[in-house]
Amino acid sequence: MKGSLTGRLGFLALAAGLLAVIACERDSNSGSSHDSPPITTDGGVEEPPELDGYVQELVSRCESITDDETTEAGIHEARAAYKRGDTDIPLSVKGCTRLFVKKSGDRETFSAVLSPPFGITVDQETFEVKRTAAIMSWSTAADGKKEVRGDLDADGFAELRETAVPNVSMISERVTPSGQIKARTTVKVLEGGLSVDVTEEAEDDDGRLATTATYQGARVARKCTGDPEPGQTPPPSTPPRPASPFPPSPHEVACTPEQLMKLESLLERATSGGASCMAAAGMPDIRFRMLRQVATTSFDFKCTDDKTFVAANDGGYGDVFPARALLWINPLLFTAADWEQASTLYHELMHFSFVHDHQVEALADLSTNLAYADRVYACEQLCFAPKANRCHLAACTKKKICDVDKYEFERKLGKEIESCWSGHQVGALCRKKPGERKWCTTKAECDAACGGQECESKSISCNDSCR
Ligand SMILES: [Zn+2]
Repeated sequence: MKGSLTGRLGFLALAAGLLAVIACERDSNSGSSHDSPPITTDGGVEEPPELDGYVQELVSRCESITDDETTEAGIHEARAAYKRGDTDIPLSVKGCTRLFVKKSGDRETFSAVLSPPFGITVDQETFEVKRTAAIMSWSTAADGKKEVRGDLDADGFAELRETAVPNVSMISERVTPSGQIKARTTVKVLEGGLSVDVTEEAEDDDGRLATTATYQGARVARKCTGDPEPGQTPPPSTPPRPASPFPPSPHEVACTPEQLMKLESLLERATSGGASCMAAAGMPDIRFRMLRQVATTSFDFKCTDDKTFVAANDGGYGDVFPARALLWINPLLFTAADWEQASTLYHELMHFSFVHDHQVEALADLSTNLAYADRVYACEQLCFAPKANRCHLAACTKKKICDVDKYEFERKLGKEIESCWSGHQVGALCRKKPGERKWCTTKAECDAACGGQECESKSISCNDSCR
């Protein structure tokens, strides 16, 4: 075994009607493994031959429809339709966002989410013209290995390519038609299956793939209750303490039928609102993933009286841990307003696409910096908080503030967000000294504290002097 436990226990005081003081354990993970499992990628994905006709028909029926939308009721019906065994399922009111399913016996072998935008391709040899739709597909082999492909701009080329080996690994790449890799995320499941090593790479200024982040995350992500609103007084901070190894599984209490019904409906609300928000933020792949995950998955809700967390997703990356759609809820703490509850479920759904950088989550201040340093918290604020801002948009989409279009987002979602300008340093993480990991306000401060070792700035500022 290498590495040590990096869990942290943070304590928060929160006011929710009555002032309650609860212990709040951030997402924890367990130790790491010695050997990384081998990772392979290969190209071949067989599309069902009838998919082409399906696309042509969808585009010709939907190309003049501009006011389609997903709704809670629509998501509810889609889930029921998938359960019944339907293989052509509308995901939006006018059915222009749809789920195509192909099965072998009871096993899903291929599924795809299709939606506008639509486009056109011309075959270079036959000059045959074909219509295209934005599409993301999942091709699942008998051993559970998944090939995911995404043509999100409907240009006929799948720029998103992903291979997921259940409980072992995932490689997700953005590629160009010339074969150049623009970005890559590699996930390796560590021994015991409870934590993952994540490496993120992106093209640098010279056009070469360079590592931008490596971190460990946990499969089981627990969400603290009471994320304070931006601008609210931060809760008193206490020194972090090492967490106990994860699991113990939380203590289960029976959910009441009313609670289960409520959770199902909140899940549908989170999906509908979250999917629209992801579309407005320019993250169509996350929208497609979320729609498919919720439409095709029978969620297992469990209730707990464990006071350390409000909700948890025992699922991690959806394609890496495919059989786990277990959401834990603590009904005692899960008492916030409806939008906040939907927000929490959206947070948990995001964990099918992202895990937290465990050290950032453990060290950044939940009340101030975490929602700018962590994508899940940032997107949750952006999509559901009444007072979201442009910095949340930047952090959610993993861009700098000057690279996001606040007005475009507002126009698409019909929700106003506040301004947040340059100078947003967020913080810097010193992670290289085990036991002395530190979160600082600025990179300069962090470099000094880190003993001359390089610090990772989480700045979303466009100003180079603001790191
Ligand atoms: Zn989380």
